[in-house]
Amino acid sequence: MWCLSPEPPAHASNADTFAVTEVAPGVFVHHGRHVGIEDPARGDSANIGFIVGERCVAVVDSGGSLATGRALRGAIAARTALPVCYVINTHAHFDHVLGNAAFAADEAPLVGHTNLAPTLAASQTYFAERFATELAGATPGVPDVAVDDTLELDLGARKLLLTAVAEAHTAADLTVFDVATGSLWSGDLLFMERLPVLDGSLRGWLAWLETAHGIKAARVIPGHGPVSAPWPDALGPERDYLARLLKAARDAVAAGTFLEDLTADAAAHPPADWLLNEPHTRNVSKAYREVEWE
Ligand SMILES: [Zn+2]
Repeated sequence: MWCLSPEPPAHASNADTFAVTEVAPGVFVHHGRHVGIEDPARGDSANIGFIVGERCVAVVDSGGSLATGRALRGAIAARTALPVCYVINTHAHFDHVLGNAAFAADEAPLVGHTNLAPTLAASQTYFAERFATELAGATPGVPDVAVDDTLELDLGARKLLLTAVAEAHTAADLTVFDVATGSLWSGDLLFMERLPVLDGSLRGWLAWLETAHGIKAARVIPGHGPVSAPWPDALGPERDYLARLLKAARDAVAAGTFLEDLTADAAAHPPADWLLNEPHTRNVSKAYREVEWE
């Protein structure tokens, strides 16, 4: 016996089903799903998108799979015939880079933090083993342009200011600021609605959050969370959590508390209404080890 299952209409293309929101004129963001690294939908779990200038288009992160990258390319083609002239990666985590190969035909330079290239190189085996399905035989590629401080890109009457950040969420974080609309793409320097994952330096991350307040932005596009959020208010919950984490780790080290006991410390816990809080335990041990020898 067979059963009826709902099938997508035959005319449905990626461009139809891959939703992007124009959060500011010419700034388009696709909302990544709130799923963890073990979820089959992990290939579409980060906010990614593009910015359209008068001459060309810049892609900001390509998604966690070749299929997601291709869907993003389709969404661009549905809105403009202008070429893609830059593919920017905000950092080297899988959910932001595994779609890079979808833009190979554009022959656009891949742009990232100066540490992006070595981090991608070091992740090659890990990506191949853990994300074979998502890679579908492709690779994230090798960056062509390394940003070690700031870099301005011109899309034609539209300037993007790229800023390489000292070690924070990771060791290769890059922000993208669209000057025309005051839109700041934070990459994973800002997680909203879910637990921020610490893969770099807790103190560095808090230092960035401190200085970021000075950025004259109108809105932020977080790496995870809503497609757009008010600036700088959006930073609050993440900053509070990371600050509590640092304090708890320092208190524990000062008191001679063992790491195992710190993990249960309620003071450092993330808000209960955040999603995907499981990596908190890992954040705690990273924080502890970071401050252990202060
Ligand atoms: Zn990340």
